[in-house]
Amino acid sequence: MRRSNPAPSPQKPPAARCASSAVKGLLFTGFLMGQSLALQTSLAQTALVESPLSRSEQEVVAWVAEQEDDMVALLERLTNINTGTLNKEGVDEVVALLEAELLDLGFDSRSLTGDVIEMPSCPGSEYTIDVADHLLATRKGAGKRLLMIGHVDTVFPLDSPFQRFSREGDTAYGPGVSDMKGGLVVMLYALKALNHFDQLDGKAISILLNSDEEVGSLSSRKYVEQQAALHDYGLVYESSGNNRLTRARKGLGQARFVVNGRASHAGGAHQQGRSAIKELAYKIVEIENMTDYETGVTVNVGVINGGEARNTVAPCAEALVDLRYPLPQQGLDAVRQWEEIFGNVYSYPVDSGELSTNSWTSLHRPPKIPTEESDALLNKTIAIGRLLGQELTVTDSGGGTDGSLTQAIGLPTLDSLGSDGTGAHSKREEGRISSLVERAQLSVVLIGRLAEI
Ligand SMILES: [Zn+2]
Repeated sequence: MRRSNPAPSPQKPPAARCASSAVKGLLFTGFLMGQSLALQTSLAQTALVESPLSRSEQEVVAWVAEQEDDMVALLERLTNINTGTLNKEGVDEVVALLEAELLDLGFDSRSLTGDVIEMPSCPGSEYTIDVADHLLATRKGAGKRLLMIGHVDTVFPLDSPFQRFSREGDTAYGPGVSDMKGGLVVMLYALKALNHFDQLDGKAISILLNSDEEVGSLSSRKYVEQQAALHDYGLVYESSGNNRLTRARKGLGQARFVVNGRASHAGGAHQQGRSAIKELAYKIVEIENMTDYETGVTVNVGVINGGEARNTVAPCAEALVDLRYPLPQQGLDAVRQWEEIFGNVYSYPVDSGELSTNSWTSLHRPPKIPTEESDALLNKTIAIGRLLGQELTVTDSGGGTDGSLTQAIGLPTLDSLGSDGTGAHSKREEGRISSLVERAQLSVVLIGRLAEI
């Protein structure tokens, strides 16, 4: 438990500022300038020239084109099984289904234990994440070792009204159709296609399916990082969102903090109370003021909860905080500021020790900072896309993926190889069905060429 700071007057934490010169020196500036046209142009100019598709690649690509009906059927099946992160039963069902497919393709598999993650909370709003097990499937081989990652969980819990797959023309609707059950279908069918032509033989490929990406991979992170260190390339099947491949991503952090005060009658004994809500309010203002658009750091208090009754001084109040940051040091600085804010008491001039704050913080996604190797992988993918008639463009993102974890370990990673779609994390989520075949075709050529280098 974190006790409140005995200092009678609150100290204002230092502003989280990063010298803009340090930012400018980096390879990516898209977060500061919006989407960088100059960057796109330079990437397009340096795109590698890929040799034309071989006869055998053409055969595999043609086979994939014939699988659309089966791919859609699998997407429908996966979508109709609820895999909200906390729904272990549904997550286990989808993992088992995919494991059976991977065993059929000659992979060995093993389960990776999920964890129970507990966070501080007010009485009555206890929050525990009981993470389902993850899966690692491997095929041994020579050549470059590829790590393919997909998450099976979605943000839609069992009681969400958004549960079923539907289709209208080339558009699929449903929870996870693009984030990222579409990506799981793309990944699996790329492997099926290679296997159909005996082209998986001798390739060193690992598949990591995790079940907690949507809560920040709090349990699977260690497995993702362990595997990243054992491979040469990372391929993550998050949605490619309208033919866009993501190059750089901000880092993500989060905090959950609980202020404990002292309940008292709001009329008869107001002075004896210590309002947790009042203290929470001061802390929220300090935390929100950490946002600095110039350096790209944004902080959002997204959820608050607290109090017992209108006429009771609130004994407990809590908040959930989200952090986005372009540079690793900014994340560390922000957590340090949070700790100061949690430790201070802002709302009462004399601290009687009756206000305290419990906190939990995590920098759960490091920034994804492009490297020469990851740019080469990106360029190669764009060039292969051109061979297949796919015009892929490049973007930066404020959102993180497991690809941010692997890239930070040093694994060159491309993390938007899944199907196209929009509206993720909302009931408007949809996916472009024809992109299932397109992205699986992209993957078979990419996997084939990467694994042989
Ligand atoms: Zn996702």
